[in-house]
Amino acid sequence: MRGVIFDLDGVLVSTDELHYHAWKSIADGLGIAFDESHNHALRGVSRMESLERLLGDRAGEFTDEQKHALAADKNDRYRASLKSLTPRDRLAGVDRLLEELRAHGVRMAVASASKNAREILDRIGLSAAFDAVVDGVDAPKSKPDPQAFVLAAERLGLEPPACVVVEDADAGVRAARAAGMRVIAVGAAAGHPEADDSCTSLGELTSSRLLG
Ligand code: MG
Repeated sequence: MRGVIFDLDGVLVSTDELHYHAWKSIADGLGIAFDESHNHALRGVSRMESLERLLGDRAGEFTDEQKHALAADKNDRYRASLKSLTPRDRLAGVDRLLEELRAHGVRMAVASASKNAREILDRIGLSAAFDAVVDGVDAPKSKPDPQAFVLAAERLGLEPPACVVVEDADAGVRAARAAGMRVIAVGAAAGHPEADDSCTSLGELTSSRLLG
């Protein structure tokens, strides 16, 4: 029995723009420069760690309480924008690949750093498509810690070497490696030196190439 563990943002759906606009309002309010390249560097990074990176040299000016308030403000803005997501926001190739894997009896999970992962899956109509979901609440240790992938394998009832991870972020590729899993880098992470294989989108992947 084999399993495939998908990252969510950047693999099954793209919420980059939504994260960008929410972080941008926080940065603008503080007079901190923040553009799309700064946002890009936050892919797969947890909310609090993203805030630390956004604050940069100014992080010391804020108390923990103020930081939590800023992160909550960002999340409220982000969650309001999630209402615009629909099943049409699934990325290219997702439906075909999930169907193909299902037909081959492969077990499937999502392992995301996002605490909003379940709501996102619901909005894009994929809640019932997976045998297990691990979100940022279940696995609080941020990737590159392997916690999210190890827990996803456990919930699938599989050993790590039986699992393949599909990831779009550097931290996620390293987390999958640390979990002892095969890893396919997609999109932004394509060509990652620690990945077993790479592709620009799921549209290029077949189940046999994925499972290796
Ligand atoms: Mg991602």
